[in-house]
Amino acid sequence: MHQIQVLDQAVADKIAAGEVAERPSAVVKELVENAIDAGADRIQVEIRKGGVEYIRVADNGCGIPAGQVETAFLRHATSKLSQIDDLYRISTMGFRGEALASICAVAEVEVITKTPEEEEGVYLRLKHGISEEKSEIACGTGTSMMVENLFANVPARMKFLKKDSTEAGYVADVLGRIALSRPKIAFSYTCDGKEIFTTTGDGKLASVILKIYGLDHAKALLPVDYTESGIHISGVVGKPELARGNRTRQTLFVNGRYVKNHVIAKVVEEAFRNNMMVGKFPFFVISVDLPAELVDVNVHPAKTEVKFANEKQLYDIAYHAVRNAIGAGEKGKREEVL
Ligand code: ADP
Ligand code: MG
Repeated sequence: MHQIQVLDQAVADKIAAGEVAERPSAVVKELVENAIDAGADRIQVEIRKGGVEYIRVADNGCGIPAGQVETAFLRHATSKLSQIDDLYRISTMGFRGEALASICAVAEVEVITKTPEEEEGVYLRLKHGISEEKSEIACGTGTSMMVENLFANVPARMKFLKKDSTEAGYVADVLGRIALSRPKIAFSYTCDGKEIFTTTGDGKLASVILKIYGLDHAKALLPVDYTESGIHISGVVGKPELARGNRTRQTLFVNGRYVKNHVIAKVVEEAFRNNMMVGKFPFFVISVDLPAELVDVNVHPAKTEVKFANEKQLYDIAYHAVRNAIGAGEKGKREEVL
């Protein structure tokens, strides 16, 4: 005989938390996306011991009103989505209202935040979802989130983590891609007291590429800029000399969000077919911007997969965009982007 039971809330929260806060890099991604949604133009990320011991994300965005700080940590609490219709017109990075609830279920969290309208900021500390201390604090406008002892209460999750340096590498990768998607935001990433990279926020993609991949990459870029049927393809592809034996340096954004789409990667590779050796993959940072109703980003909680309404048309347009960039490069018409 078996008996069906409804999970108690704490257990259900821990399970749900595992989907959003899978590892330190996922926590950083969520916190940084919140900073972007808050309109910040400066975002500092600091981690210690692979992010398990300590993560801090500080922004100069709009802050959280003092009276709503606790609410922000409740499940399904969001200021970004109020009606179901909005789901098809998402312009913010977040919309599920799950990240803060998930993170604080599996860690100790401190937040310091202030809106421009308020004189004083507020400090709140929570442990495993329960608020432990709240006070006023003097601080500038914006939000700092500190996450400590991640997964200390979920030993099973802990076991899945790799060594600190590997986890720190994942954080660098996630943050690097976010920085590439937002050249107007100045990012900094510090790991165990060492500065790994900073971007200037000067608005140029090539400047971000310089900081993240180095001068050889920044000097070998072909600009992509092509619009057809309301679909805008922009960014850069690397000259063939930047090609590598794997796809780790391929980055795709759809409406400002980092996504994975193998077909678009294949389309770019196809465009390079006569310029590149078999087994080599081109460098690219490409943004696809299209009307929100033509793309569904809602297929997976981590939101790195997308579905397009008219795939064939999109792939044709992307192919043309990249072919044009390569063609202009061959004719020496390439504009200097750095
Ligand atoms: P979502 O981003 O899906 O709305 P979150 O759990 O990530 O859900 O955040 C909940 C709410 O907390 C957000 O909707 C926002 O109002 C507020 N918030 C979180 N982080 C910040 C931040 N850095 N600056 C301003 N507001 C924030
Ligand atoms: Mg969020």
